[in-house]
Amino acid sequence: MVSMDDLPVRDDLRGQVPYGAPQLEVAARLNVNENPFAPSEGLVADVAAAVADATRGLNRYPDRDAVALRADLAAYLGRESGVALVGDQLWAANGSNEVMHQLMLAFGGPGRTAIGFAPTYSMYPEYCRDTFTRYVAVPRDEGFRLSTATALEAIELHQPDIVLLASPNNPTGTALDLDVVKAVLDAAPGMVVVDEAYAEFRRAGTPSSLELLAGHPRLVVTRTMSKAFGLAGARLGYLAADPAVVTAVQLVRLPYHLSAVTQAVARAALVHSDELQAQVALLRDERDALVEWLRGNGFRVADSDANFVFFGEFDDRHAVWQSLLDRGVLIRETGPEQWLRVSVGTPEENAAFRAALEEVTR
Ligand SMILES: *Cc1c(COP(=O)(O)O)cnc(C)c1O
Repeated sequence: MVSMDDLPVRDDLRGQVPYGAPQLEVAARLNVNENPFAPSEGLVADVAAAVADATRGLNRYPDRDAVALRADLAAYLGRESGVALVGDQLWAANGSNEVMHQLMLAFGGPGRTAIGFAPTYSMYPEYCRDTFTRYVAVPRDEGFRLSTATALEAIELHQPDIVLLASPNNPTGTALDLDVVKAVLDAAPGMVVVDEAYAEFRRAGTPSSLELLAGHPRLVVTRTMSKAFGLAGARLGYLAADPAVVTAVQLVRLPYHLSAVTQAVARAALVHSDELQAQVALLRDERDALVEWLRGNGFRVADSDANFVFFGEFDDRHAVWQSLLDRGVLIRETGPEQWLRVSVGTPEENAAFRAALEEVTR
């Protein structure tokens, strides 16, 4: 048996382990922020018909620019956020992870720097490693918020080619004020990427950075169908930006990266966006109730605009995590040492989580 390190693998990959949260079969899987509701039978039927139709053309390469899908995504964002967009401003790939990777390929690279505000999404350093981009993690403020002062100080110091802003942020759930994003856009010398993977879960009154696209050609807003849309298995993420950003990304994407089947599945699912919004409303209410319950029980809880809740503080979070798992509830150990993250599940799963946590921490 040879190990990876016996191979002439890149020096910076030696000894590293692949990204991945445990994929375990337990009663309540609340560890990767999926939508707990399976697609409706109506959606299943429409997706199946669309896939059958796409299959008839699988001897041909797919539309490499996914023109029809991008127009549908623009229309969806218009309905969701009230911001009018056209297909030329959209770009899609296999999950927003691939979109981000493409952005790093086009705008990062050797000699270039990206900054993120920690704790934040654990994949950002990996995209940077893959693209030979230097990554700088700047600590957030009290309560995991990000103030304009902290953001501007970091930009002044590091002069980043790319600023990565997750809003709502993972793992904390905290969203950004548009004033912060605006100040960053004014000060940053390069691209500003706002990762809105969880945007559909934001509370009333929390705006989307899509509102800032007009007049800001260096702003990119990324979204995904993996979370609110409940299509994590389909792998469809996208961005909205100036059409010039799309042109840049088209230089580095692999040929025919988005299969005809994926494009068909996404388009069929987008027809059902209203029905999915109803689930999102339920999950938001469950989230707010969970935050209140945790605070009522003496935990510290970050404000959440997402479909997960970040809570603490534990002297031995691993012991709590393990004891919950022993009771059939899988959550996530991520971010600062004393904190845990739980995804919002069905009302039954959330009740199971509360009961298990009460037992474990009594
Ligand atoms: C889940 C998540 C994504 C989305 O990933 P996909 O590749 O679209 O499944 C992007 N950003 C953050 C911060 C996430 O948590």
